[in-house]
Amino acid sequence: MKFCPNCKIEYTDEAIFCSDCNILLVEALPVPAPMNQCDNCSGEVDLDSDYCPQCGTLYAEDQYSCTNHPTGIATGVCVVCQKLFCNECLSEKKKRLYCTDHVHIEASEGWTVIFSSTDYYEAEIIRGKLDSAGITTHSTNTTNIGVLADGFMDNALGRTIFRYPIKIFVPADQYLSAKEILSEGPAADDTED
Ligand SMILES: [Zn+2]
Ligand SMILES: [Zn+2]
Ligand SMILES: [Zn+2]
Ligand SMILES: [Zn+2]
Repeated sequence: MKFCPNCKIEYTDEAIFCSDCNILLVEALPVPAPMNQCDNCSGEVDLDSDYCPQCGTLYAEDQYSCTNHPTGIATGVCVVCQKLFCNECLSEKKKRLYCTDHVHIEASEGWTVIFSSTDYYEAEIIRGKLDSAGITTHSTNTTNIGVLADGFMDNALGRTIFRYPIKIFVPADQYLSAKEILSEGPAADDTED
């Protein structure tokens, strides 16, 4: 028996590729690691994790100090930088914890806004960069892009739609790596004169 690692369909031993997904079949499907469920956000957490990366709740019984105040006792983890902070340094927004540096990032359901603009071409470039770096993205207000690229709706009504900025989201814990990727490479068109 063989399996497709993507769609999980069973094949006979003679089969080599999944006819649906066009990828190599494997002898056995990987067993998903057992996970704990976070009491606070019901997110899945590694069994050996000391905290929930999705909401920042700390489970560890050991005491850790705050990243900002060595004397402060950490009460949670910032979901963006994944560092330990005390009560004073953490703010809760929609059941998720953020440090003072990251509390202002626009976030929704564990996703953070890495880029927001009405310039849909730039948005596509940004999204492409993140995709090729292996960062999961999801964006809002982009369904109109294809429409406009076709020249369809390039009229007063169509352009009104684009007043709503396109927002590109990345998972909160990938926000900082995404920022780094976007700051790399040739600076877009920053003319310093
Ligand atoms: Zn398949
Ligand atoms: Zn949680
Ligand atoms: Zn932070
Ligand atoms: Zn602190």
